[in-house]
Amino acid sequence: MRQSTPKGLRIAHVGIAVRSIAEALPFYREILGMREVELAPTDGARIRGLDAGGPLIELLEAEEEDSPIGRFVARRGPAIHHICFAVDDLDAALDRCRAAGARVIDEAPRIGAEGKRIAFLHPASTGGVLIELTEA
Ligand code: ZN
Repeated sequence: MRQSTPKGLRIAHVGIAVRSIAEALPFYREILGMREVELAPTDGARIRGLDAGGPLIELLEAEEEDSPIGRFVARRGPAIHHICFAVDDLDAALDRCRAAGARVIDEAPRIGAEGKRIAFLHPASTGGVLIELTEA
């Protein structure tokens, strides 16, 4: 039986690790025509948001090599880094994830680049995809 998707659930943003925001930005801004959104640096990464019709594309550039994005790019090159889903109730969603055996990286939610509470789920328990959950 098909269950309905929770009301507020949506893709909030897709994080893309890049070597250089300056090099990556023109494709999204000039070629695809996306509007830029200012975002605060987080986890040792500069972030440039681009409006993809509601959800954002977030270009993530390491401020230092020894940071999550710096290590990711060194290991795998530029690539999609994570997908962020907005949920109605972050604490309830994290409880469901834990109960299902998913590995929650952030035991307690913290504040992300958009100023909302976030938590990451480890890719080892989500089929290889780093997933971020945030509040709708
Ligand atoms: Zn994110």
